[in-house]
Amino acid sequence: MAIATIEVDRNAILHNVNYLKQLAPSSELIAIIKANAYAHGKLGVAKLLADKVDGFGLARLSEAVEIRNANISTPLILLEGFFLHDDLNLLIDYNIQTAIHCDEQIDRLQSEAGQNLLTVWFQLDTGMHRLGFRPEEAIEKFTALANCKVVRKPINIISHFSSADDLTSSQTTKQLAQLTHFLDSIADKTLIGKCSIAATGGLLAWEQSHKNVIRPGIALYGVSPFDYPIPELKPAMTFKSELIVIRQHKAGEAVGYGQIWTSPKDTKLGVVAMGYGDGYPRNIPENTPVLINGRRVPIVGRVSMDMIVVDLGANCQDRAGDEVIFGVKDSLLKRLQNIQVLVVMNF
Ligand SMILES: *Cc1c(COP(=O)(O)O)cnc(C)c1O
Repeated sequence: MAIATIEVDRNAILHNVNYLKQLAPSSELIAIIKANAYAHGKLGVAKLLADKVDGFGLARLSEAVEIRNANISTPLILLEGFFLHDDLNLLIDYNIQTAIHCDEQIDRLQSEAGQNLLTVWFQLDTGMHRLGFRPEEAIEKFTALANCKVVRKPINIISHFSSADDLTSSQTTKQLAQLTHFLDSIADKTLIGKCSIAATGGLLAWEQSHKNVIRPGIALYGVSPFDYPIPELKPAMTFKSELIVIRQHKAGEAVGYGQIWTSPKDTKLGVVAMGYGDGYPRNIPENTPVLINGRRVPIVGRVSMDMIVVDLGANCQDRAGDEVIFGVKDSLLKRLQNIQVLVVMNF
């Protein structure tokens, strides 16, 4: 059995979905489950939400195929589009929708012979400057896309905010205006399908951004994208392990690689079965706490591959085998929690 484990609370995810739906009652909800559902396990989350959401957003074709192979028929959308080496027939056969953000993708679609086989999302770059067609070329590209036989009409429209988590930024309003301008410039309105720009930040903070379809990711898992918590969201993940041993430690002694921490006093150190080999970040800030028997205690010394050391204090009553929880209490830890498990997936 694994020692370092992730526990996912399904009820928390269901609670979060219901809460988010209430915020935008007239929009469809595409649940973003890319990156293995932010490390919460994409198949589990997809099964849990299959009949509760209007679609799933993913980053890679292989993820979408896995979902379909698990007999889930909910609409699936590739947020980054298909890659040029991807097999377009897979998208068609598996009924997978795709964003279209570049000329090369349109070229590829133009050479497809089939009719009305692929549902697409025209990606407009309203200011994120990562993916999408620039506003000044957007009408020309939209028309080219609409002229591809293989593309189903109407065409959905997607864009993404760069700064929706910053309530003081004027960027979100500018991006919304850019989107509106584009929609207004399309002469044939019958070509316009659904429109979506709000991920979690837009959904929670910018009501005017909800449009037809909202696309929350991180909020589903109970994490606030802002630098303040959203009390209505319930964190779904607990990342935990256990104490291997408790050791006496004397003032003036260092611990671990590089001796980066020296104890100012006599104390007891706990060695925990968790390290960067388990995905825990090696470069955490000094004094990052963990939770043991209801107390926050600091990590001391360098994170090793399979172990970390915590300062339990001279009078601690903790014992080997006690549970150690990483990151459930504050937003910094929640963020670390998500980073570390994303790393795990790359092994
Ligand atoms: C990741 C992503 C989302 C979800 O973002 P959150 O901030 O996690 O809600 C939505 N749309 C696109 C295009 C994305 O890449």
